[in-house]
Amino acid sequence: MLQASGSNEPASENPSVAAQQADQAEQPDPADAASPIEQTPADQTPVSQQAQASQPTPQSQVAQQDQPDQPPDDADQPAAPTQVIQPDDDPLRGFIVPIAGACITEFEGHLPSAPRAYRNHGTHEGLDFYQWASCVTISTATEALAAKAGVIIRADTDYIDITPDDWARFQQDWDAPGVLDEARGRQVWIDHGRGIVTRYAHLSAIADGVAVGLEVDQGQPIGYVGESGQQEVYLNPGSDLHLHFEIRIGQSWLGEGRSPQVGRQLYLQAFGLAPPQPDSGG
Ligand SMILES: [Zn+2]
Repeated sequence: MLQASGSNEPASENPSVAAQQADQAEQPDPADAASPIEQTPADQTPVSQQAQASQPTPQSQVAQQDQPDQPPDDADQPAAPTQVIQPDDDPLRGFIVPIAGACITEFEGHLPSAPRAYRNHGTHEGLDFYQWASCVTISTATEALAAKAGVIIRADTDYIDITPDDWARFQQDWDAPGVLDEARGRQVWIDHGRGIVTRYAHLSAIADGVAVGLEVDQGQPIGYVGESGQQEVYLNPGSDLHLHFEIRIGQSWLGEGRSPQVGRQLYLQAFGLAPPQPDSGG
């Protein structure tokens, strides 16, 4: 499929490379893309209920699952089979794709753990949604959607675009404190409880009313796709529009230490687009 060509490509956020890939790559058929994203009502209902239900009292849910007084190997417990943790109880399940109608890119450069040579051999920590690889039209009017219900813990409502001097400073030391964060541009972060945070980066604007402390529902627009934090914002505006989306797990991030293709599978599972199965390494 496309992964062979994707793995041979250098970085992805370079607009000229992106344009080449766009020309060379077969655009995934939007009709094909729609079907795996569509969820049946039966699938959606428990997911959203679970997401909302877990929101106010994440601690108590964890407490319920860790029953310290219960013998772990008591085969006589009749209720044991119903207490098996279902996929919906997994904090890494029940997300929606953060752009309506988008599919999940197959290009390695867009995936978690993809190398970022221009960042001094850094690593991509999330999932990118570019128009040419995500089955949807993307502009600064494209809404970024809360992937799950939660509480806004960061909203860069007073963000100021980077300058060429800023980019030059980034180039001097990508590992300097705060540089990677600056390169993610205007951001919104949502806390979903149980150590899970989603981040929405490079936004062109924050949705009206979105501010720290606001509780958001799954699917609620939190901002608009852009290219903030990237040099294209002043070099060639409009040439690098994409959403950079991350699922953070405590101090780690989904796909850390795994191959980009395994990371893609983990995101597919988080979105309910792949069956839950133990990832087989790689
Ligand atoms: Zn990215």
